[in-house]
Amino acid sequence: MVQDCVWNSFYKLIGKKYTLVLIELVNEKNRSYNELLLYSKRMINPTLLASRLKELTHIGLLTKNTAGKYKITSKGKKVCEQLTVLNSILLSDLHSPYPVCMYNKMKCFCDILHR
Ligand SMILES: [Zn+2]
Repeated sequence: MVQDCVWNSFYKLIGKKYTLVLIELVNEKNRSYNELLLYSKRMINPTLLASRLKELTHIGLLTKNTAGKYKITSKGKKVCEQLTVLNSILLSDLHSPYPVCMYNKMKCFCDILHR
């Protein structure tokens, strides 16, 4: 099987469950797998969390430090800044047909609640 290029891989990854919130949470501070699981009040499926962290690490946005905590890379930081820009563009529409996110900033778990 031919592997997707980084461009395709990234766009597929950002559409997947938890990708955005994980980038945002790790950008805020280094967090371990368990801390991320607890942050979501265990609403995240543990296997899915592990798999998403692996994908984010593989694409170079996160890295794991010697203490076992996930850390944002410089590339990840830049991507995160651009995602914040996109977020504020989306929120600038006062007549959006979508409900306002009930979470803080980009730490959104709406997809879990509305499952
Ligand atoms: Zn939301």
